[in-house]
Amino acid sequence: MTLVSLREVLRGTRQQRFAVGAFNAMDHAFAEGILQAAEEMRTPVILAGGDFPGPDYSRFIPYLLDRLERSDVPVCLHFDHGSSFEACARAIRSGYSSVMIDGSLLPFEDNIAITKRVVDMAHAHGVDVEGELGCIGSNAGSMEEEETGSVYTDPESARVFVRETGVDALAVAIGTSHGLYRQAPDLDFERLEAIRQRVDVPLVMHGSSGLSERDFSSAIDGGICKINAFTALTMKVTRQIAEDLRDTELALSMSHMISLKMTEYAKREVMRHIRMFRTLPIEED
Ligand SMILES: [Zn+2]
Repeated sequence: MTLVSLREVLRGTRQQRFAVGAFNAMDHAFAEGILQAAEEMRTPVILAGGDFPGPDYSRFIPYLLDRLERSDVPVCLHFDHGSSFEACARAIRSGYSSVMIDGSLLPFEDNIAITKRVVDMAHAHGVDVEGELGCIGSNAGSMEEEETGSVYTDPESARVFVRETGVDALAVAIGTSHGLYRQAPDLDFERLEAIRQRVDVPLVMHGSSGLSERDFSSAIDGGICKINAFTALTMKVTRQIAEDLRDTELALSMSHMISLKMTEYAKREVMRHIRMFRTLPIEED
């Protein structure tokens, strides 16, 4: 079994300046692409699920856990953007090794309170927790659906938040947004540095679609250890499949050929991101 906690999958990231990608496993074919990419590159990886429109995760998680038994790289199964204590508890019961509690829209004290409650419960079950402070906004077309603005993370509040809650990782808002950007985001690396100096847990970046390789590199150098990547990646896979379907031979062939293509393209895109994230391979013995 290669299921590991969030702390374990992010081990060494901060000191050795690399990040681990969290990619959304929305169905069997895409999940397979993510896992094959990590297996081939011998790197750790984070598979993200959540209460998103799409798969029935109550059926999908047992499949993923079974598939992970046959994987030989460390995989963290992470519940993304948990909206309540109950949602996180449900995720832990279903087998996730890590949960995110997103109290970022709540007032500061309430965010601390709900996050701490989830941390106490999760840690009692050996599960790690990611919190969010500040608010990472959403662009149109993101899975968060609603378009919202961002509130940048205040470095001093981040220090208090981590100390009070005991979170294992912290998602910070430094100028990124979920979904696709209308214009290139302007990232606040000074703020990131100020947060890094005050917080010793791994920092997490959401809303990475459309960032350049240079942005990723600067973010990782600035202390980002986990990067959530999905929208741009999945859309690229879809576009490639659409392109292929213009070829009548594939368009008229059996439907599972499309699933196989999806795995192949997802694998290729995830490998490209693993390289951009500078994820170090595991030490093989
Ligand atoms: Zn997010």
